[in-house]
Amino acid sequence: MNRIHGKRAVVLGGAGFIGSHLCERLLADGASEVISLDNFVTGDERNLAALRMNKRFVSLHHDITEPFSFDGPVHYVFNMASPASPIDYAQLPIETLRVGSLGTENGLRLAHHKGAVFLQASTSEIYGDPMVHPQREEYWGNVNPIGPRSCYDEAKRYGEAIVAAYRRAYGVSTRIVRIFNTYGPRMRLNDGRVVPAFVGQALRGEDFTVFGDGSQTRSFCYVSDLIDGIVRLARSDVEEPVNLGNPREQTLLQFAEAVRAAMGGSSHIRFKPLPQNDPQQRQPDITRARTLLGWEPRVRLEDGLRETIAYFRSVAEHPGAYPSH
Ligand code: NAD
Ligand code: UDP
Repeated sequence: MNRIHGKRAVVLGGAGFIGSHLCERLLADGASEVISLDNFVTGDERNLAALRMNKRFVSLHHDITEPFSFDGPVHYVFNMASPASPIDYAQLPIETLRVGSLGTENGLRLAHHKGAVFLQASTSEIYGDPMVHPQREEYWGNVNPIGPRSCYDEAKRYGEAIVAAYRRAYGVSTRIVRIFNTYGPRMRLNDGRVVPAFVGQALRGEDFTVFGDGSQTRSFCYVSDLIDGIVRLARSDVEEPVNLGNPREQTLLQFAEAVRAAMGGSSHIRFKPLPQNDPQQRQPDITRARTLLGWEPRVRLEDGLRETIAYFRSVAEHPGAYPSH
């Protein structure tokens, strides 16, 4: 059943990479109105260019750590707002903690007031540097509470806690998605995450910067697969956290090879120091998503990379038309 059709949705952080794809999908599914609230700290109005003429779409400039409300019904609140790349949250540690705590609570207040479903974008980072592999939702994680990543990890752990508390205390209908590394068009070329980093380096004819010895693992999910899982979760009645990600795990060295193959370039590897507390391994166990949502990723890495590379080529060829800060 399409429970989005005819519904009004608020997307917090709608001008970001994932948020903008989500806005597009909700409109395509027939939402009566989609309202994005974003302070553009890491997002950009240009991510919403395709929606500018859509009469059912509204983009508002607002910092969600400040209260907000709307006249009329709201059926869904999607909280995608937070700096998300390690470079972004290292530069914005207080903002990251504030949006994850105050911002999440403001979103929950709106959902409580309107009787809306609240969907929280959580993250595989709540598992920290995991001692259990692959990561299942039952695992409680291994996070350094004062390390350089803690502003993000602990904000997201607090986010899950306050979502659970609003559900228990006020009966708010909540969903929690634990997103694993996701990539695709509209990532920022210089946000420091490995996909834009490697693709950008290959486009410029530079070497790949591999942190550490490249033996750490990640599992990369294409954005359309993730959005499909998020919408399935929103439409479901599943209140426990659900991992969404692609279980195809690889080392960073293997991933560099995949980018090189996809781009036909000749970039070599330049090793750089491993950032502190960089998780050594990460792979989602998606049994819960498969069982409860009938979801699994469909896009092959080769195909997702082709789309992503085409986007970054356009960014490089038309500076100014796309976000690049
Ligand atoms: P992004 O930086 O592109 O998007 C985040 C958006 O939130 C931006 O548009 C930013 O301007 C906005 N924002 C931040 N603080 C705000 C505030 N105080 N008020 C209003 N808007 C604010 O990042 P993304 O990759 O699209 O991530 C979206 C969500 O998904 C985040 O919550 C992130 O933690 C989560 N997530 C992403 C990944 C991934 O691989 N991309 C993995 C795990 C979790
Ligand atoms: N990484 C790398 N070179 C880069 C950027 C990142 O080797 O230029 C590594 C990073 O150390 C991590 C992995 O790639 O092990 C994924 O990093 P990213 O920042 O994309 O996401 P994370 O999973 O760390 O949040």
